[in-house]
Amino acid sequence: MSDLKLPSRAEDFSEWYNQLVLRAELADYAPVRGCMIVRPYGWALWENMQQQLDKRFKATGHMNAAFPLLIPRSFIDKEKSHVEGFSPELAVVTIGGGEKLEEPLVIRPTSETIIGHSYAKWIQSYRDLPVLINQWNSVVRWELRTKLFLRTLEFFWQEGHTAHATLEEAEFETRQMLDIYTDFAVREAAIPVIPGRKSDSEKFAGADVTYSIEAMMGDGKALQSGTSHNLGQNFAKAFEIRYLDNTGVLQHCWTTSWGLSTRFIGAVIMVHGDDQGLILPPRLAPFQVVIVPIFKTDEEKASVMEAARKIRSELVAADIRVKIDEREGSSPGFKFNDWEMRGVPLRIELGPKDVAKSSVVLARRDRPGKEGKAFVAQAGVVDAVTKLLAEIQQALFDRALAFRKSRTYEPKDYGEFKTAVEQGFALSHWCGNADCEAKIKEETKATMRCIPLEQSGDPGKCISCGQPAKERAIFAKAY
Ligand SMILES: [Zn+2]
Repeated sequence: MSDLKLPSRAEDFSEWYNQLVLRAELADYAPVRGCMIVRPYGWALWENMQQQLDKRFKATGHMNAAFPLLIPRSFIDKEKSHVEGFSPELAVVTIGGGEKLEEPLVIRPTSETIIGHSYAKWIQSYRDLPVLINQWNSVVRWELRTKLFLRTLEFFWQEGHTAHATLEEAEFETRQMLDIYTDFAVREAAIPVIPGRKSDSEKFAGADVTYSIEAMMGDGKALQSGTSHNLGQNFAKAFEIRYLDNTGVLQHCWTTSWGLSTRFIGAVIMVHGDDQGLILPPRLAPFQVVIVPIFKTDEEKASVMEAARKIRSELVAADIRVKIDEREGSSPGFKFNDWEMRGVPLRIELGPKDVAKSSVVLARRDRPGKEGKAFVAQAGVVDAVTKLLAEIQQALFDRALAFRKSRTYEPKDYGEFKTAVEQGFALSHWCGNADCEAKIKEETKATMRCIPLEQSGDPGKCISCGQPAKERAIFAKAY
């Protein structure tokens, strides 16, 4: 498989992506259309993402729990905009144990309703607040057009759900979680993101305000990479989530929800990958280092393997994720290509000459050829690897940010705007009118990604209608 060349990104970005996901063994197609099988290499990447996020959730006071997969159909109907948003995507169970069910059950598309139902029972007084819960699970949305990781019928994610006494606390929580997603994207995934607010037409079904982080993929398109919703009192009213305040008055709670999914794996692939394959950010890579032993004779094999195992144990002791490629019958050249395609940040080449000199060759995935190679003494390998992994992490971020900047435009008129959204992001004034947003979408296929939290504050004219506008928004074609 690895001997075949991937299509180049320039010639067919979409096919490059599809083939890479399969060949790198991140995921596979499932027997049911639109579902995916996450393979061990892909799951290891997801586990590393989970760990980094989970650590941040717990540091801000959240705890994990598990709510059921099946939700009574009537729950979904309780919140008006929620049912409108999700009804077309629901998978419904009507038969159980061979009997037609009295009430159909839906497979959760998200868990606001079932969690709202529980919160109504658990919350009585202001002393019970806030409630800060997250769950790691999968949900099902009956999508028509699917693509591995980016849009599948079932996907894996975390969904956080919180309840608060005041609007201010709920808003603080919503923004705090957006900040956590931003920090995760930047520091762990080396992906620059734009945190912002969604327009009314793009917000979550049932939310008062939706915030998202938006990232630019390698083809200039946007990917919504995490969302955080201030649900106001919409679900609290639909599910009677109430508390007695400290003056004895019964009040509705204010709730939030926030999620980041296996979609984010798609972002890592499309932001960092090149024509040779994946480039994984060291902080998330399942293997940060692969050791490829090189030998011809049994004698050479014995000495090379001994040195390789010694290096491995030293790296493991330093908490570095490392693998020795001991596959028989594959040439070192094949192994180099294979691990390049699978995006391992750093390769250690170790042959008899290196053993004799007590040195190793380190090869960076992000810098092909001689430029990315270094010779270091075996005694200093842990320090050299640690330093290089940090450098690679930073280099990937810098490159992604430079690319996004080079493809972000501030068009002067609608003509320039149309060209801009063919290339990348258009940062344009928008009057706030949904008609302008809809017109832009119809005419250019670009959607409003977000109104960035960071605004220059300069007033201008709406790119569509020319009316005065206070804020700029990001418009782009999106996954
Ligand atoms: Zn307008």
